[in-house]
Amino acid sequence: MTDAEPLRRGWIFDLDGTLTRPQHDFDAIRLELGIPNGEPILEYLARLPVTEAARLHRRLDAIELELATAAQPQPDCAALLEHLSGAGCMLGILTRNSRSNALRCLERIEVMHLFDPACILGREEAPPKPDPGGILSLLGGWQLGPDAAVMVGDFRFDLEAGRAAGVRTVHFDPSGRFPWPTLADHCIRSLADLIEPEAGARTRIQH
Ligand SMILES: [Mg+2]
Repeated sequence: MTDAEPLRRGWIFDLDGTLTRPQHDFDAIRLELGIPNGEPILEYLARLPVTEAARLHRRLDAIELELATAAQPQPDCAALLEHLSGAGCMLGILTRNSRSNALRCLERIEVMHLFDPACILGREEAPPKPDPGGILSLLGGWQLGPDAAVMVGDFRFDLEAGRAAGVRTVHFDPSGRFPWPTLADHCIRSLADLIEPEAGARTRIQH
């Protein structure tokens, strides 16, 4: 990895807590849906009988719609996406939220125009992270290999999905705690770290 090497061309972002400020209180959502503490929500719902799962999915969609409507961007979110788009990079979203809520959220934070809508994958379009399927699907559409792409996220599932797909992983954690060092190729506290040259080769994503 040197300064002379080019920027990676494919950039895949998690949404909540990465491009937007974290809003999801997953423990509160679990409580509301009657899901035991610590259980991943989508995986729990997938094990329920169909009618019960459908009822809870509708409730989850409603909760997440309310959150999407109030979404706020992370600092420097638009600047980073504009920088990457201007450099000819391809941008995608891989979220465990629904696609319709993701679109609403991206509109709300005023960055939707920087994405191809076909590159916004929600829980109906791809198996939920940590499954790498969504990343591989985006790479296929872009005709890029994993060595030309980056997965950026704030949670373990984002990094695990990136690892499983073989792409570079960037852990965004404004608190600076970085609890999963073995899963992250790069750790950043600010999205601006990915655009400012003075942040140096340590955080700038290159081959
Ligand atoms: Mg997240």
